[in-house]
Amino acid sequence: MSKYVMVIDQRRCIGCMACIVACKAENDVPEEHFRTRVIQEVEGQFPKLRMELRSELCNHCDNPPCVYNCPTGASYKDKETGMVLLKKNRCVGCKACIASCPYDARYIDPRHGYADKCTFCSHRVAKGKEPACVQTCIGRSRIFGDIEDPESEVSVLLREHHFEVLKPAAGTEPKVYYINRILKG
Ligand code: SF4
Ligand code: SF4
Repeated sequence: MSKYVMVIDQRRCIGCMACIVACKAENDVPEEHFRTRVIQEVEGQFPKLRMELRSELCNHCDNPPCVYNCPTGASYKDKETGMVLLKKNRCVGCKACIASCPYDARYIDPRHGYADKCTFCSHRVAKGKEPACVQTCIGRSRIFGDIEDPESEVSVLLREHHFEVLKPAAGTEPKVYYINRILKG
């Protein structure tokens, strides 16, 4: 069994947004929505400014409130991969998952009425490929792999670096890990 995670090495992000473009094209994301974002945050006062470029996406949480609050079983945690996925034909568009996600990772697809979000490009991973955002990332800021494999790049990076997750107090046990976070909160 695998458990897929993503590592965001913030030292390497140049803010080019190629990941966002690749994700939209790969997953036919509706114009007004995003499955991944790169947030630019600035803190402090000139000349003492601190800036962070932070990629955000669904955290494929191990303790996912979106799954627990879904009344139809449309949202589920895949046991084989650890990914949080969606059975679109079961979704009734009630938005309970959207309301319960602390990361604003989901949206309703206005064309079809079902909830959607990042799937870690599960269709690509099933064919042995990387998620589109990872493949396109020029700086190699996004690294994807199986944390159950001790030799995988993600396992090595997480062994060798201090890392953080977003909103740890929410208790969701996120599976997107950040190396070199600058701004806290
Ligand atoms: S980030 Fe949000 S949508 Fe993704 S698994 Fe966690 S709670 Fe669910
Ligand atoms: S919008 Fe769909 S996936 Fe979300 S909680 Fe409702 S039925 Fe489940």
